[in-house]
Amino acid sequence: MKIIAIGRNYVDHAKELNNAVPQKPVFFMKPETALLQKNRPFYYPEFSKEIHYEAEIVIKINKIGKYIEEQFANRYYDEIGIGIDFTARDLQQEQKEKGLPWEIAKAFDNSAPISPFVKLSNYKDIQDINFNLDINKQRVQTGNTKNMLFSVDKIIAYVSQFISLKIGDLIFTGTPAGVGKIKIGDKLEAAIEDQKLLSFEIK
Ligand code: ZN
Repeated sequence: MKIIAIGRNYVDHAKELNNAVPQKPVFFMKPETALLQKNRPFYYPEFSKEIHYEAEIVIKINKIGKYIEEQFANRYYDEIGIGIDFTARDLQQEQKEKGLPWEIAKAFDNSAPISPFVKLSNYKDIQDINFNLDINKQRVQTGNTKNMLFSVDKIIAYVSQFISLKIGDLIFTGTPAGVGKIKIGDKLEAAIEDQKLLSFEIK
């Protein structure tokens, strides 16, 4: 499986990092070794002094597809979860300044904690889902998928022109404003519509 992650998909987050609002979806990838599941702790890596959290709704692909048309994209997923796109912001900044790829800042081991998946049929509309992240019981991010720049179906249509989607692939759909640093000892808890699905510690 592979993880595809969308950058700058919420205007308020693009602005907080002084990034231009994109005209097309911006995506990057994380390998399978980035997955962190079952609420296992995240061990702060030695290569960064500025790991940021980014809470994101995650789509799980349930069918193989290529060149998927936007109008049919909703047939390719029926479960969602919530994940954290951990980002070594200090390394990413260096890479951005040099125009280099982001992998060292985005694709490292355990950089993609994810919750168990829940049936999409629990929710009315994929583009109207509330989600949030608390750190040490303080709310740090709140989002609603209606504020995505590119909808889930647009993302699937766009990405599948370049990369075939396979069963079990995950799409991180971007983060709203409020990203920030984690530190050792923090407890992260993420919820979809106030249902806490992800809870783990930074060690
Ligand atoms: Zn992200």
